[in-house]
Amino acid sequence: MSLSRGHLIIKAAECKGCCLCIEACSVHVIKLSGRLNQMGYKTAEYTGEGCTGCGICFYTCPEPGAITVFKGWDKWENKALCPVCQLETNVYAARNGDEKNVCTRCLNPIS
Ligand code: SF4
Ligand code: SF4
Repeated sequence: MSLSRGHLIIKAAECKGCCLCIEACSVHVIKLSGRLNQMGYKTAEYTGEGCTGCGICFYTCPEPGAITVFKGWDKWENKALCPVCQLETNVYAARNGDEKNVCTRCLNPIS
């Protein structure tokens, strides 16, 4: 089981590479990737381990929708086949009103 209490997805298409999330993360689990997005920005990415789920990066990022933080990752066990990823992935019940499950890899809804 992962020791991470949180999990993080950064949408490369929304990221402007400003590094505010990298500077804000107290456990240093976000880094700049070597990849450029379609706008030519070097994008931030999760290192893959150690997120506490504090949400500071989410509140720091000036780009709406760029960062999604999943809390309680160490307790999350629901899995399903994501039709987009074509992989068995963790699913998370979105609490934004429609109560749909989302793939925690690509954020697409899973029924
Ligand atoms: S939620 Fe907190 S610990 Fe996780 S990446 Fe963001 S700032 Fe770092
Ligand atoms: S704060 Fe947002 S826009 Fe800036 S590097 Fe992080 S994810 Fe990208």
